[in-house]
Amino acid sequence: MARKNIVAGNWKMNNNATQTQELIQGLKSSLEGITLNSRVVIAPTFVNLSSAVSSTEGTAIEVSAQNMHQADSGAYTGEISADMLKDIDIQTVILGHSERRTYFGEGDELLKEKVNTALAKELEVIFCFGELLEDRKSDNHFAVVESQLKNVLFDLKADQWKNIVLAYEPVWAIGTGETASPEQAQEMHAFIRSLIENQYGAEVSEDVSILYGGSVKPGNAQEIFSKKDVDGGLIGGASLKVQDFTEIIKAI
Ligand code: PEP
Repeated sequence: MARKNIVAGNWKMNNNATQTQELIQGLKSSLEGITLNSRVVIAPTFVNLSSAVSSTEGTAIEVSAQNMHQADSGAYTGEISADMLKDIDIQTVILGHSERRTYFGEGDELLKEKVNTALAKELEVIFCFGELLEDRKSDNHFAVVESQLKNVLFDLKADQWKNIVLAYEPVWAIGTGETASPEQAQEMHAFIRSLIENQYGAEVSEDVSILYGGSVKPGNAQEIFSKKDVDGGLIGGASLKVQDFTEIIKAI
């Protein structure tokens, strides 16, 4: 099974119900008649997931959650479980986003629990990871990425990787306007694939989609996506504008 290209929009804590619908309707019309070379995924906030699922039914647009809790259910005020997501026909969840790590203290141990729960519930996981600016400056970026991957994902069984999508997001490039150069992205993606190959073999490593995230825009998407080990992008800011997101989708 060859790996798939994916362009995913992380809408973060943006857009009320009306704005979410406007964005979805805009996207639906701008994608009409386009031959897609990738899966297209959007991740609205929890409160707008249900309506997003309904309004994208019958289209190529898939809907993902931005997070979930690791427990099945219980006294966890304010949290959302995997079963609740499945119940409203969500098939994908983003885990490990740097904003969850930074602002909500999510570390490898917790993320491992979340990933394991999500996979046990047959959700697909878009797993985000990436180094800080200080890691790159001190030439530690490969070691940091290696430990993030190993600590969270390397106890999985080979067949569980079919439900894993990786999103390499150097933290210094998220929402900053700074982008990793296409060469920097390719270098890291190739490194990531080699780690997976060493642990699981070529079949798993060749099949896993590795997305790049960090200030992808219409102007730089094509060059980044053209790299051999870059299988699409996780897009923040630019996914909130119909035209920009459409151009990024077309760039693949
Ligand atoms: C993100 O939050 O995953 C992201 C890549 O954001 P931006 O595209 O805005 O840098």
